[in-house]
Amino acid sequence: DTAPPELQEKTLVLVKPDAVQRRLVGNVIQRFERRGFKLVAMKLLQADQGLLDKHYQQLRQKPFYPALLAYMTSGPLVAMVWEGYNVVRSTRAMVGDTDSATAAAGTIRGDFSMHVSRNVVHASDSVETAQREIGFWFQQDELVAWESGDQDYTY
Ligand code: ADP
Ligand code: MG
Repeated sequence: DTAPPELQEKTLVLVKPDAVQRRLVGNVIQRFERRGFKLVAMKLLQADQGLLDKHYQQLRQKPFYPALLAYMTSGPLVAMVWEGYNVVRSTRAMVGDTDSATAAAGTIRGDFSMHVSRNVVHASDSVETAQREIGFWFQQDELVAWESGDQDYTY
């Protein structure tokens, strides 16, 4: 990939099982595409507890963790890696607050979720977290490098 490093920032987005069930996958993808971010990996899978224990390692002691595990294993989810300038921060802004009650209208959660325990999407919360999370969900060779004209951007 010949794009400058700042255009190669990556984040992990999960379209959670409730959203797959509700046929919201396309809507979520469309939001990132129209923002201009580049899709570099995507798959539909049934997550298991081992993977989720790694992904949510900071939450394993929380009282809601068993319910979170049940939710996240209730059906298939879509894992994606999106790439682009400030993609981690932009994606968190597009996803909205964890608590759906305070997620702004126009955000994914603000538009599609009414409760924290069915909040439609996951997005990595920092560049470092994203690198770690992408490693949990994808093999290195599942990330596809492709030219999208991003290298023509100027700042
Ligand atoms: P975010 O997904 O916004 O980064 P956290 O990392 O704090 O939020 O939590 C991870 C996920 O755990 C949330 O998206 C949600 O699915 C679940 N969760 C967080 N807090 C609660 C809660 N109080 N009750 C039920 N589920 C929760
Ligand atoms: Mg989080």
